[in-house]
This record gives sequence, C-alpha cells and structure tokens, in this order.
Amino acid sequence: MNIQANPLDGLNLVENYDQLLASYAQKNKQSFGRIHPENEDPDRLPFQRDRDRVIHSRAFRRLKGKMQVVAPQKGDHYRNRLTHTLEVSQISRDIARNLKLNEDLCETIALAHDLGHTPFGHAGETALNQKMKGFGKTFEHNLQSLRIVENLENRYSDFPGLNLSYEVLTGLQKHTKGFILPDKTTVNWQSLEAQLVDICDEMAYISADLEDAFRGEYITWKDLEENELCTQVIQQISKSENGFNFTQPNLSPSKLNHQLLHVLIQTLIQDSQKNIKNFPPLTPKTPKRNSNIPYLQSENRLIEFNQENEKKFLDLKTFLYKNFYELPEIQSHTNQGQKVISNIFDHLLLNPDKIPTDFQTNEPLENRICDYIAGMTDQFATQFL
Ligand code: MG
Repeated sequence: MNIQANPLDGLNLVENYDQLLASYAQKNKQSFGRIHPENEDPDRLPFQRDRDRVIHSRAFRRLKGKMQVVAPQKGDHYRNRLTHTLEVSQISRDIARNLKLNEDLCETIALAHDLGHTPFGHAGETALNQKMKGFGKTFEHNLQSLRIVENLENRYSDFPGLNLSYEVLTGLQKHTKGFILPDKTTVNWQSLEAQLVDICDEMAYISADLEDAFRGEYITWKDLEENELCTQVIQQISKSENGFNFTQPNLSPSKLNHQLLHVLIQTLIQDSQKNIKNFPPLTPKTPKRNSNIPYLQSENRLIEFNQENEKKFLDLKTFLYKNFYELPEIQSHTNQGQKVISNIFDHLLLNPDKIPTDFQTNEPLENRICDYIAGMTDQFATQFL
C-alpha cells in the first residue's frame, strides 16, 4: 500500500493547528499567554486546556440549576443556562470551522460566557445591579463571568481562578472596553472569535426562545405570521416538506428552531465573509508578541449581519419582547425572582456571618454578597431564607 506523506507531519501540535487557520484568525502561537505563567501542555492546545478548565469548574456545573426564560416547573424541555451555553458553543464552533477561525478559542469563550449569570435569568441581574447602585457600584453578568474565572474559582493551588489565556479573558469582557495586556497595551478590540461567540449567543437564545415560546403556546401560529423572518422560515419549511400545510398550524416547535437557526447561520457566514473580504486585513498599530505577524485589529464588527439582515434579526428580537418576554406570566416570575434576590441581599447585609468562608476575603461586604448570590442556583436561592 502506498501511504502518502502528510504535509503536516513533523510540525508540533500548535504549528499543525495554526496552519489550518485563516490569516485573520487568532493563532495559538500568538497568544499572550496567562497571567500566571505555566508550561504549556504538550498534548493539548492552550485554548483546549482553557476549555477543559471551564468545563471542570464549579460555576459551570451550577449553570444547570439556572433558568433561561421559562421556569423549570413549567416542563422538562425548556432551556436552562447550561443547555443554552452548549448551544452557543455548538453554533460558534460550526461557524468558526467554516470561516477558518480558531474553534477552540470560540468554544472556550462560549462555554464560559454565562458563568457569571445570576439565578432567575436577567431578573437576578437587575436586582443585584439595583442593590449595588446603593453602594455607587454596578453588577453586570459578563464582568461577573470574568471575575469567576480570574478570582472566584478555587481549584488550583498555584493561582486564584482558572488562569485562562488572555484571549479568553478579553472575549468574556463583552460590552466594556479597555483590557490591559501583559505588554501594557490596552486593547479596545475583540478578536473575530469573540465577535462570533457574541452574535452566536444572540442567535442561540433568540431561536431557542422562539421554540420555547411556541412550545409553551405563549406565541401562536397567527403571531408568527406578523414577523418577516418567521414567515420566511415557515415558507422554507413548507417548500422542503411534502405534506406541510402552510395554512394549518401543524408546525413543530423544534422544526421552527432548526430552520431559523439554519437561515441565521447561513446568512451570518455569507455576510461575514463579505465583511472580511472588504476589510483592510492588517493595520500597523496592531500589538505583537514574539512574532512579526501582527494581530488583526478591528474596533468594527466583521462577524455580523449586513444592514438588511440585521434589521430582520432585530425585528425578531422586538417580536419576542412583545409576544414573550413581556407577557404578564413571564414578568410575574421575573418580579418574584427579583424579590427573592433582593431579600437575600438585605438579609446577608445584616447577617454577614451567613456568607460562606470561601467568600470571607478583604473585599467590601457588598461585593462578597454579590459574588455569593450571583453564583446561586434558582433552587438554592428560593430555599435560602
Ligand atoms: Mg448567553
């Protein structure tokens, strides 16, 4: 048998993988490394190692006990924070491979992106933010995710947190600017991998929430016809399926989810490819590390829909707000969640000895309370008082 030589033979793991990536992708070799320097693992790429640390963290395991939008009492098939996280990871990886971006980096950012989410979805976040305002501070779940992986996880003896690569940390810092790298450069940009996970997060929750809303009969067949993207998706289903009756409400909720996701993914890939093609590939100001190859620097989004498709996507979001998130039944659960969080906060302010020793640091009391509450699962918070 004639076995042909593999052109990648002789390269190490990092070189081997980096060769498969596009010029605009985050290369493993160009990573700024970790805050606490460590020898790299010979059997895993750096971002794979980061991913494994996230999966083995306690905060990751707690995601299963945190609701997404619909409370778990309503049924077993609604998304929770963990299943949402896995969906974001899957969608990001698929698109990353398609665009030749660094799949491991996308996967790690996706798996860690909601670690800082409070119990009771955004209701918990709103309540904690209101409480912290009383101390002249704020609470935001993306920054809390960063805080968990940098400080609060307590698994390794050599460093606090998970000591993840800088590229993962900058990817978690979603809506705020200014991340200081080890060479003292402040970066105000996001890698294309971080941009991708950000939009995949939205695509995942919008399509999943639409399915959940339809499954729970919060949204009816008639409502769907109000929205352009839903109508387009239903027309595609009716074309592809023999016997599908467009005039009858016989649409399966999962079919709606999968076809919508298919449309969004295809559209995002096409629109992003055009953006990347039209963007001057590298700029002279880009930071460097041990390499002459500069990073792609873009304060503009390149992984995004074009204007027309963005509008359709935003219309669908607005549609969900009006027909699902703002419904009295969903809102009443939200208000209840806010009340629970608010009561726990007040109770711990008066009884700081109830805060576990893990949180007994030199930080101000309100910060420690915030860290403790943000990490709770819905059930733990509900039964706390
Ligand atoms: Mg999310």
